Amino acid sequence: MPQTLKVALLGSPNTGKTSVFNTLTKLNQKVGNYPGITVEKKEGTWTLSKDFKVKLFDFPGCYSLNANSIDESIVIETLLNKQDQDYPHVVIVVADVENLKRSLLFFTQIKGLNIPSILAINMADRMDKKGVEIDIKRLEKELDTKVVLVSARKNTGFEKLKQVLLDYKTLSIREIFDISKIDSNYFHDLKKTFPKESLYRLWLLITQEANFTKLKRKKITDTSDFRTLSTLSLKKLQQKETIQRYVFINDVLKKTFTVNPSKAKSIGSILDRVLLHKVFGYVIFFAILLLIFESIYDFSSIPMDFIDASFTQLSQWVKHSFPSGNLTHLIADGVIPGIGGIVIFIPQIALLYFFLALLEESGYMSRVIFLMDKGLRKFGMSGKSVIPLVSGTACAIPAVMATRNIENWRERLITILVTPFATCAARLPVYAILIALVIPDQGFYQSLTLMGLYLIGFVAAMLSAWVLHQSFMIDKKSFFVIEMPSYKVPLLKDVFYTVWEKTKTFIVEAGKIILAISIVLWVLATNGPRDNFKQAEEFITQQDTTDQSIDLEDQIQSYKLENSYIGILGRSIEPMIAPLGFDWKIGIALLSSFAAREVFVGTLATIYSVDSEKQETIKERMANEKRADGKPLFSLATGISLMLFYAFALQCMSTVAIVRIETKTWKWPLIQLFSMTFLAYVVSLFAFQILQ
Ligand code: GDP
Ligand code: MG
Repeated sequence: MPQTLKVALLGSPNTGKTSVFNTLTKLNQKVGNYPGITVEKKEGTWTLSKDFKVKLFDFPGCYSLNANSIDESIVIETLLNKQDQDYPHVVIVVADVENLKRSLLFFTQIKGLNIPSILAINMADRMDKKGVEIDIKRLEKELDTKVVLVSARKNTGFEKLKQVLLDYKTLSIREIFDISKIDSNYFHDLKKTFPKESLYRLWLLITQEANFTKLKRKKITDTSDFRTLSTLSLKKLQQKETIQRYVFINDVLKKTFTVNPSKAKSIGSILDRVLLHKVFGYVIFFAILLLIFESIYDFSSIPMDFIDASFTQLSQWVKHSFPSGNLTHLIADGVIPGIGGIVIFIPQIALLYFFLALLEESGYMSRVIFLMDKGLRKFGMSGKSVIPLVSGTACAIPAVMATRNIENWRERLITILVTPFATCAARLPVYAILIALVIPDQGFYQSLTLMGLYLIGFVAAMLSAWVLHQSFMIDKKSFFVIEMPSYKVPLLKDVFYTVWEKTKTFIVEAGKIILAISIVLWVLATNGPRDNFKQAEEFITQQDTTDQSIDLEDQIQSYKLENSYIGILGRSIEPMIAPLGFDWKIGIALLSSFAAREVFVGTLATIYSVDSEKQETIKERMANEKRADGKPLFSLATGISLMLFYAFALQCMSTVAIVRIETKTWKWPLIQLFSMTFLAYVVSLFAFQILQ
């Protein structure tokens, strides 16, 4: 039986941990989540020798053991808890050769945990270009461990790394930084009280905010003859620790690391001067954004139409090929359209992720984040909120998932809460038909209205972020640290891997919810409590007022919908929505668009018994719809009110569900659902009452 060696891969974000992980484990990997949080947990295995199997963990990026983010807390919790099932036998710290100093700070901390720790300096392929030379022998001596130069991109150094791993028992587990020298009295007391424990581990338990440390900290501070320090003094000591570690590291680097500056001037620094420019930086970013949106809408319309048509055909085929009955009906009208409603989003989502991955991989995204950070901070968000806010214009679901990169919980929460205001793709078909209906087709009125709706979404997001920022009680200041990775030509393989991974998550996570809701809505729309629902067919055929111009089948459908559960619900909310200018038919469409907003148009088409073959007539039917007093239902006032309602309301159960998944509680999605709906109601009410 080979022995399983548990190895942790640690390091700052962007040092190439994942690339090293991929190189080592190939496709033998498993992606999961850490229990209770949505941070990704990756592990992979491979056979090192006939005696050893390695189980490798790709931990989330981590700048230091002083936790500022959930990601860092995970690392600390695992490393401080020897009972943890992931507690490693060996740690590999991955460092980026161009940001060695930062990584060494982390390495000296890891070394303090008395776990055999190897330093793998990655991106060795860039050393020549940068004129970097490292005295490895000397560095090994200074750091009291094995140092391996690797390049995940060029696949070099991995044989040596595996060899070192095999010999892990020979690695020293001594610390290289004596923590007690930052305050000898304090640590002397600590040592006296807990003679058996590691000082540095105790120190981490006292200073860290990870989940379980509070309990342990209490145990330590409750010990009678131990002096407790105030938070302020602890912070001061921590700062002293960092400074002293850097003094040590600078000394080590002076002895081992040389850069030939004549080669160091790179294209990167020139690019930075343009891309981070106070004016051009923003102009270029917005130009790139515009280009991305343009391409997303251009490229995705063909596959989307194709998917739409295929699912319609599939559902027709099922209807005609199988004996008609409840099951066939459920599959043809509930399940297939439900799945179609998920698949239709794939082109846009995959394309968006493709572009974002390109920007990310090339190193440009870090510049954008840096550029936007100052502005977004005023609204309680982080530079990293740019990605969710941009993604939200395609679909809120991947956008909410994209907030995982934001370390600070408060900033992440605000971003999650406001992202659904961004005008997502599902609102477009609704806007399109309403604009065509109520906005005069002259001059730029129609396109200005659409632009205005986009702007309203954006402003609503920013304003509500600001309000949340002012009123949120959770207050944890975050320090903005971002490594500027050097520019790289993106590896298409990595880009596609990201696209595949994220799209898959979307399909699985959002998919099951959209499907479930579609089925529930289908049941509500195809069942009714009273006899007149069941006898719809007889009722319509017997009626002599039957309008011959409308297909009989369509009339029956419409009558059924009217008397179904959802129809009854629609009628019962009429008194509530009448002040917004909506009647019960719009009410039904509003309710059904909780599955997905774009369902709105389709539902109205059914209610108005529009023949599905004739596209034009739905608009005509809507235009001819009259109120009791004979005035057209879709007046300017109703149209605007309805569009505003769609702009503000959170009419999307999938978003509610994904926010539930990401925040791990029903509290936030419910607050979001009710406050957005309330806001929509108030805005529409004002709009209708003023315009009417
Ligand atoms: P992580 O955040 O630490 O997991 O880092 P990733 O594995 O995602 O890598 C960050 C970036 O560095 C990606 O663009 C990689 O393609 C790039 N990268 C990773 N390893 C190497 C390497 O050995 N050489 C070079 N030049 N680039 C690399
Ligand atoms: Mg990674």
